[in-house]
Amino acid sequence: MGHPGEKVIPVRVAVRSRPLLQWELSEGAKECVNFINEAQQVIVNSNRAFTFDYVFNPHSEQEKVYQKAVLPLIDGIFKGYNGTVLAYGQTGSGKTYSMGSAHCVSQCEVTDLSSGIIPRVIKDIFDGIEKRTTHEFLVKVSYVEIYKEELKDLLSNSRKQTLTIRENIDGSIRIAGLTEALVASAVDTLDYMERGNAHRSTGSTAMNATSSRSHAIFTIILESRSINDPDELTCSKFHLVDLAGSERAKRTRAEGERLQEGIKINAGLLALGNVISALGEGQHGQHIPYRVSKLTRLLQDSLGGNSLTVMIACISPADSNAEETINTLRYADRAR
Ligand code: ADP
Ligand code: MG
Repeated sequence: MGHPGEKVIPVRVAVRSRPLLQWELSEGAKECVNFINEAQQVIVNSNRAFTFDYVFNPHSEQEKVYQKAVLPLIDGIFKGYNGTVLAYGQTGSGKTYSMGSAHCVSQCEVTDLSSGIIPRVIKDIFDGIEKRTTHEFLVKVSYVEIYKEELKDLLSNSRKQTLTIRENIDGSIRIAGLTEALVASAVDTLDYMERGNAHRSTGSTAMNATSSRSHAIFTIILESRSINDPDELTCSKFHLVDLAGSERAKRTRAEGERLQEGIKINAGLLALGNVISALGEGQHGQHIPYRVSKLTRLLQDSLGGNSLTVMIACISPADSNAEETINTLRYADRAR
């Protein structure tokens, strides 16, 4: 947890553009984003250039995004590091597609070509366990939604629940009252994600409306014990976060209740940006403002420090979205 003397691992930032969608094409939208892959650069409106750790253009496949940006975190998990993948961007930019948070379990295969990050992570964790015969493993999952600065346990059936975020003496974060389900296989794990999705704040028909205003945090907990030395125990957490839409409240002409939501959600995203930016300054002893929002508090022991973090900034290439695209790229740029 970023103790003095420990090396601080920088947060990596990827940008991914989706292709123009059919309805955008039929409305005559044009692409306003160019990609210079060799230089990891994105250029908007031919004059605004940004450089990132990874750049994925509209043709980049799910497999490639996963291999480059996320796979290094899987090794880390098996070495006892925590990891976090964050999908940021305006509603409709490809966060859920990239994360694979809406993946449905198929009867035969856990992943296929179109699968996003979460099913691929799950598959590789269980494959990794198979390969490691010197250790015994326990895998648990939890799934939390943060909506209007309130935590909701998506794996719990009970309506009445109070979840509180606690910090242990060693600096690790735990959520009192949260369901942690023991899982035995990749299919089992994906099954919990689907069950959790069904519990998101409004019914599934309004899923997109809700998901654009809440953060969904799917967490895989990996405990490993050496068979030769049972005292050698490690525990790591891997958070997979489908963030709330980053669009500005004014764009949606929000009023009343909606506007309140907008303000609170933006507070979470604002706090996240501030935390990641402060981590990037890399000065020991510097105050990192984790406590400002539930999102940053929950992720406190898994962002920066000695955790592996990658933010995937999702953008639309359409000229009609240019303003939000620039906002997203600015936010992501600050995180580097
Ligand atoms: P968000 O979760 O950010 O609101 P979605 O993931 O729901 O956005 O994506 C919006 C639409 O764009 C969906 O129909 C999705 O299938 C499509 N889409 C997003 N990214 C891609 C991509 N890289 N390739 C093809 N289609 C995509
Ligand atoms: Mg979504």
